[in-house]
Amino acid sequence: MKALKLFFAGIVSCFSLTVFSQSTLLINNVQIFNGKDEKIITGNVLIVNNLIQKISTAPIATDKSGNTKIIDGKGKFLMPGLIDAHWHAIMTANTLEDLMDGEPGYAFIKAGDEAANTLMRGFTSVRDLGGPAFGLKKAIDEGVVAGPRIWPSGSIISQTSGHGDFRNVNERPVTLGGTMHHSENIGGATIADGKDAVLVAVRENLKRGASQIKLTAGGGVSSVFDPLDVSQFTLEELRAAVEAAEDWGTYVAVHAYTPRAVQKSIEAGVKCIDHGHLLDEATLKLIGEKGIWLSMQPLDSSVRATSNAEQKQKKYDVANGTNRIYSSVKKYNLKLAWGTDLLFDPGANKRQTGTIPLMGKWFSNFEVLKMITSNNGELLALSGKRSPYREGKLGVIEVGAYADVILIDGNPMKDLSVMEDYTKNFVLIVKNGVVFKNTIK
Ligand SMILES: [Zn+2]
Repeated sequence: MKALKLFFAGIVSCFSLTVFSQSTLLINNVQIFNGKDEKIITGNVLIVNNLIQKISTAPIATDKSGNTKIIDGKGKFLMPGLIDAHWHAIMTANTLEDLMDGEPGYAFIKAGDEAANTLMRGFTSVRDLGGPAFGLKKAIDEGVVAGPRIWPSGSIISQTSGHGDFRNVNERPVTLGGTMHHSENIGGATIADGKDAVLVAVRENLKRGASQIKLTAGGGVSSVFDPLDVSQFTLEELRAAVEAAEDWGTYVAVHAYTPRAVQKSIEAGVKCIDHGHLLDEATLKLIGEKGIWLSMQPLDSSVRATSNAEQKQKKYDVANGTNRIYSSVKKYNLKLAWGTDLLFDPGANKRQTGTIPLMGKWFSNFEVLKMITSNNGELLALSGKRSPYREGKLGVIEVGAYADVILIDGNPMKDLSVMEDYTKNFVLIVKNGVVFKNTIK
């Protein structure tokens, strides 16, 4: 990994030197999955600076003078860079203990390292659903560290005792004379009770550059105080969050599993439900009719070693819902996004691509590949003008789209399991027109 990092660190610094002159990258002889169509074409892709300029089955002539690079793709499988719709760039790089009780500098340096690993797993974009990721995003955008494009939510907004309340039982809330918890001080969570506090919390995240807002509207698996069945935030509080987000041209996503939490969120104007594993038929129908996004993860019943009996039971209940909900997606015509929501278990991040083949149980390989590229790209676009990257489309290979592509040795349209061994099978990774990995043989 060290050699690899030096390799792409070199490329990034080259890139920043040549940013004002045109750089051209021609990827020849590849099978192209464009993110949207089942039909694969064999052809060539021309990238100029950070955008795709031409796609053709015929040879593409390039100006060989200047900064032109030609790569022979040797007939391998080219697809848009992967998008994880539910990621926590800071939290997934650290254990709960390191983030909440450790040195902040250590936690953020680990997140920088993990961001590079995330990109090396083929993820060129992530929707960060909570955590202090603004600084990491800036460092990635400036080329200080390698990593994916980040759509940050900023702090997870939670009520007292909610899914984002990381205090221990003896720590009093600020409103009752307590002091801010470390999770709040580092921008990981904001405890907000009442409409006014929610408005401040939302606006504070928007001020720092949030592309969407994340609230916890119901119980969670990993949190200590809230049973899975509870609903969090009043309708008035949820509405306040939606109003403040919409005034900024963006939307609210909520963490919620149950019918009551989801129905209340939809009534408040929430545009994306994250999780939803415990939903009933009536609520799924409502989500479909209203065109709300369901951002789900194929969660199984595995838990962290430190989980207590209650947390294990909660995870088991959620895992049971995975099959039921995925089996209902087509019936209710749901807009489905895919994400991993890996959290506080850095060793597990290697599995980020490993959950992609699991989706083959409910969907065709084409449907899965479309979900992790253009469908997720559509969800990113819901941030409108608050999206940090608006020059081109994401999740597609088409003229004018961002040049975020990966080349795979193997054909995931025929066999999704090639996504698992990303180290071996992902032989070319390009983000924003910059080559971060090239091991084509
Ligand atoms: Zn999450």
